[in-house]
This record gives sequence, C-alpha cells and structure tokens, in this order.
Amino acid sequence: MPDHKENRETRHILSLSGGKDSAALAVHMRGRVDRMEYIFHDTGKELPETYEYLEKLEAYLGAKVVRTTFGTTFDDILRRYGGVLPSNHRRWCTKMMKLKPFEDYVGDGPCINYVAIRADEDRVGYISHKPNIKAVFPFRDEGIGYPDVVRILYESGIGLPSFTEWGRSRSGCYFCFYQQKIEWVRLKQMHPDLYDQAKTYEKPNRVNGNVFFWCKNESLENLERPERTQQIIENWMKTQERQRQRRKDVPLAAVLAGMDYEPPTREGCLICQL
Ligand code: SF4
Repeated sequence: MPDHKENRETRHILSLSGGKDSAALAVHMRGRVDRMEYIFHDTGKELPETYEYLEKLEAYLGAKVVRTTFGTTFDDILRRYGGVLPSNHRRWCTKMMKLKPFEDYVGDGPCINYVAIRADEDRVGYISHKPNIKAVFPFRDEGIGYPDVVRILYESGIGLPSFTEWGRSRSGCYFCFYQQKIEWVRLKQMHPDLYDQAKTYEKPNRVNGNVFFWCKNESLENLERPERTQQIIENWMKTQERQRQRRKDVPLAAVLAGMDYEPPTREGCLICQL
C-alpha cells in the first residue's frame, strides 16, 4: 500500500456507487486513512435498496456519505438535454451526474481518489484527467478479488446490497440502459412502480421526436407482456444452464473460497456500478 499520510493538505476521497465493491473498499480502508471523505453521486433515480445500503454503510463507518449532486436530479439534466434520454452511445448521464459532480466536489486541490476495481477484473475504471486527482486502486494493488470482497462485507456485518437477493446485478439507476432483459423482468416483479415510471420516459423527445427505449429496440410495454416475460425467463434459464456446465472455467480461488464466481459483466457504467 502507498503511504496515504504523505501530505496533510491532500484530500482522500472514496467514491461509493451503492454497489458491493466500493462498499467493501470503504470497510477495508476504515481506519487506514486520516479524514477519508465518502461520496455518492446520487441521480435521484437509484433503487430504494441502494439508499438503504448507504445508510447501513454510514452507520458502520460512523461517517456521512456526501451526496455530490446536491439535489440536482436526472430529470433536471434530462430537461436540459431536451428530453433526449442517455444511451450507451450518448452517455450524458455519466458525464453530468457522475463525473462532473465528482470533479466539482474535488475542486482544484490535491486529491487521492480510492477506486474499487478488484484484482480479478480487467476494467480500467474512471480516471479523472484533472492533474490534481490521483486515482489509486487498493484492491488491485493488494490482490483482492471477488471472494475477498464478499468475505469483507459479511465479516463487517454489512453483507451484500439487498437488490442482489432478487437478482439485480448492478447498482445505479433503476432504469439503467445497461440492464439485461431479465433484470427488467425482475424490476417489474419487485418494484412495479419503478418499472411503470421507467415506461413513462419512453416517449418522443423534444429535439428530434424520436422515441428511445431503455432496453435497446424493445419497449418496456412489450417486454412486460406475459408471453414475452416468460420467454425472457426461459432464455435466461437456458443461459444459466450453459454457464453451469462451464463451471470448470470458474477461477480456483472462487471455488476454494466456496463462493460463487461473479461472471464478468458484458458492459456497464464503471463509475455507477463499482
Ligand atoms: S446507472 Fe446507468 S442510467 Fe444511471 S447514470 Fe449510470 S449509466 Fe446512466
């Protein structure tokens, strides 16, 4: 580990996403860095489970998690963009609701930002281009992988975020366009009100009149039809079965730890879902 007590004026900031990895990093780093600041870029559209998890974490850390968006919500920014929804090719949400609040919060002073990329991931994560911000990766540097993260969280009593119990793999906005179809099905089952709210965004925007569907080229209205839902569930089960048959590919460390291996996610928002 680098010597984090190198400069009294340097701020130490740990970015929480509401997900397990950043939560585990906060637990892992507790007491190791003076005056650690914990931040969360709240879009106002997170799952209720995420807000509950952050509260649990605040209690454990004995510290407040600062909401860097200071009340600005996804809907405020959406209005500025003429109602054009974000997508993986037009990700203004990450830029405006995550990166900008982070850089504004840090300002121009020296800062070390603790990022929860694990040793068993090949993601690079967000690294600010601001010269005053230095990103560090304690999990990667210390060889901490998925089974360790799970252990850290259970040993602390915090556990995993409760949205994982109903099969949601990611933190982030309830309507995140990176969700798999099965996650939409589960959102509908667990939070029908949020599913309905997500549907209300699928309407012509004010800029070019196009309708954007959160779930690639399929509307949420179509996805919730019982026969379509059933088809998605069956496809997902078949995929799961194929993955089970490939268990020999599971890293040995995960098997030895007696914990499920977390399959790599196809795509996602690195800053929202760590
Ligand atoms: S979770 Fe998804 S929708 Fe929300 S800010 Fe991140 S990329 Fe955008």
